[in-house]
Amino acid sequence: MAYSERHATLPDFSTGALADDAPAAVHEAVSTGSLPDVERITALLESAHARYRDLDTGKVADYIPSLGNADPALFGLSVCGVVGRSTSVGDAAYPFSIQSISKVFVFALVCHALGHSEVSRLVGVNNTGLPFNSVMALELSDGDPRNPLVNAGAMTTTGLVPGTTSDAKWAFIRDGLSRFAGHPLDVDEAVYESEAATNQRNMAIARLLESYGRMQFDPIQTTDVYTKQCSLLVTTADLAVMAATLANGGVNPITGEKVVDASVSRDTLAVMATSGLYEFSGDWLFEVGVPGKSGVSGGIITVAPGKGGLGTFSPRLDAAGNSVRGQRAARYLSHALGLDVFASKAFDPQAG
Ligand code: GLU
Repeated sequence: MAYSERHATLPDFSTGALADDAPAAVHEAVSTGSLPDVERITALLESAHARYRDLDTGKVADYIPSLGNADPALFGLSVCGVVGRSTSVGDAAYPFSIQSISKVFVFALVCHALGHSEVSRLVGVNNTGLPFNSVMALELSDGDPRNPLVNAGAMTTTGLVPGTTSDAKWAFIRDGLSRFAGHPLDVDEAVYESEAATNQRNMAIARLLESYGRMQFDPIQTTDVYTKQCSLLVTTADLAVMAATLANGGVNPITGEKVVDASVSRDTLAVMATSGLYEFSGDWLFEVGVPGKSGVSGGIITVAPGKGGLGTFSPRLDAAGNSVRGQRAARYLSHALGLDVFASKAFDPQAG
């Protein structure tokens, strides 16, 4: 897929993996309380895997050449609860580059360092309604990057990372994302080199941000650090822990380490809710009812505040760049596990 400005001028809003198959949600459980026991979660993950493993709509991203080599059959699902119980099915141990999901965690780390008001002022928290790599979005907003989950806002955020050199910023990011995952994360050198050789569009966006006075660090070095952060290798088991850390007020439920403040977790989830699934963020929230974030290698994180996190991986993407199977599995699991934060039941005065 090219994800070029053609998508921006006339987005194909008919092909989202949720919009084209959107039954009204049946909320058997509402978003109160905690996750069911691990056996029940495992059974539901197996059921989700069986339901969607043969779904072969969507295309593997190949605008970063090495991503085009991904096996479209791969499909992994993992859940980690806030009490640290984890369970997985399918290709949950398969490592893939985190891509855009990194934007969430770099934003959280920068929000922790700079504070709620500064990131809102310098990066923004509003959806663009346009593709993640849109130049037009930046022009239409007079250089306002709008939010940290599109490339313009993500590179602005990376430019704000503490440190006066690109090495220092990179060390901060790698260390921070590793603390979210609970172990050191490595770079997929092939993906990094492939994207670094083809990321002229991102360099152009960074230069454009600079021209508007919105880039706080050298734009080309910032693009390079951003490209590296996108190349960090994760599994769905890692993503579930990272998502669960956001669900758990910023404390990693496996290591017990506080990675960011609870208020920062909350701010990060709010941005994910508005902008996590590219142009289909509204479809996602309407159907799944919790914050999520996708990446073009095929990963998605889904966060149920106070309960836990879901990590999914399957490389075929819809028109906006979201994993097709991952979205379907997240919707199924959100309904079955009662994750939707918008669902409620009337208070029963008899029950007290
Ligand atoms: N590294 C990718 C890019 O900048 C990330 C895109 C994504 O996952 O949305 O194009």
